[in-house]
Amino acid sequence: MPSTPTLSANPEAYWMPFTANRRAKRDPVLFSAAEGMHYIRPDGRRVLDGIAGLWCVNAGHRRPEIVEAISRTAYELDYAPSFQMSHPLAFELADALRQEAPEGFSNVFFSNSGSEAVDTALKIALGYHRARGQGQRVRLIGRERSYHGVGFGGLSVSGIAGHRKPFGNLLPYVDHLPHTYDREQMAYTRGQPDWGVHLADALERIVALHDASTIAAVIVEPVAGSTGVIVPPKGYLQRLRQICDAHGILLIFDEVICAFGRVDGAFASSYFGVTPDIITSAKGLTNGAIPMGATLVQQHVYDAFMQGPDSAIEFSHGYTYSGHPVACAAGLATLDICKREGLFQRSRELWAYWEDAAHSLKGLPNVVDIRNIGLLAAIELAPLEGKPGQRAYAVHNACLERGCLIRSAGDTMLLSPPLIIERAQIDELFSVLADVLRASA
Ligand code: PMP
Repeated sequence: MPSTPTLSANPEAYWMPFTANRRAKRDPVLFSAAEGMHYIRPDGRRVLDGIAGLWCVNAGHRRPEIVEAISRTAYELDYAPSFQMSHPLAFELADALRQEAPEGFSNVFFSNSGSEAVDTALKIALGYHRARGQGQRVRLIGRERSYHGVGFGGLSVSGIAGHRKPFGNLLPYVDHLPHTYDREQMAYTRGQPDWGVHLADALERIVALHDASTIAAVIVEPVAGSTGVIVPPKGYLQRLRQICDAHGILLIFDEVICAFGRVDGAFASSYFGVTPDIITSAKGLTNGAIPMGATLVQQHVYDAFMQGPDSAIEFSHGYTYSGHPVACAAGLATLDICKREGLFQRSRELWAYWEDAAHSLKGLPNVVDIRNIGLLAAIELAPLEGKPGQRAYAVHNACLERGCLIRSAGDTMLLSPPLIIERAQIDELFSVLADVLRASA
């Protein structure tokens, strides 16, 4: 059945992001409503959301408290200037986030997306060293198979070749650590792999190559999300932290996916027992209802900027919509739901069930690996010969037709449901996926 009976507009005008537009717009997949764990398609079919929209609707769709906070705030204060002026909700949300953050985090810079949160973090890192008289520390270090958004900063430190190649002119002075995935060593690991801590030592080699005095920051996703739920080897993040500490390099965790209960607790860094200097977040921050990003910094980072004459702007950076009142209202309402309903703990309680359900797919046709942590899972498939990505995309489509939204990236199926998911719905997601895999053999 075509999914476009209610699309009255000519689909041509809309340039869809990260989409094969010529193909997708022949019969675009549309959602016209959502509630709880489900999307609703224009023809009324319900779709169980196995990916929380795009890893963001952690508290489930269309929460009345968030809708109400958004509409009340839009009605009372549509906009407040964000430079030199503000409004009470921005201060409230910053304070609330600080309380959720690991010890030592003191300040929050707001933006409108994960990409902006990352670019803000990179600029903070460069400004931090400059403020401390070390302006020669300009080198940024990312990692292969990482995704840090689409701004020029984030893209420069990202490690997805296909995203980078079309835009040759990225930031200079960027290096990449190796990614931490090796199927031979870690296939079907549950949670963190035992193998791979030594991969962090590549940072020592980069330091030796360029000299620590030129390096500003290392940025990693604690768990690489959109490139396939690549879980850090045990001890790996600790090792990165040690090397950064030894050389005065800032460590940035991009928690745009991992935060807000997706892995464990408000921020995944606590789960891994490693405290970075800067954390980026977005997505679950407002439950996806309104765009917002946040960059959180440790006290010592903020303090470095607060030197110099009292009348000067310490950090020449900001967005018209930094700390937008409506986004702040959504953020506060989201945090309130998470706390009231114990959603972060709920995610923890479901972890074992989720893990067993994911790993029950082992042995099905074309499954070559399964990875999981928190309420994240990846089912990696063998690619179709000469057609990378096509098998997983077909599986995604078949699941959608059977009422389950499961994302495909390359040849990996990605799952990251709202944290309100019930056990029966976990069963439904994985049994539909299993049936589709069996049928596609
Ligand atoms: N960082 C990470 C780790 C992400 O997963 C994403 C988005 N998937 C981003 C940054 C970029 O976020 P946005 O799409 O909101 O710009």
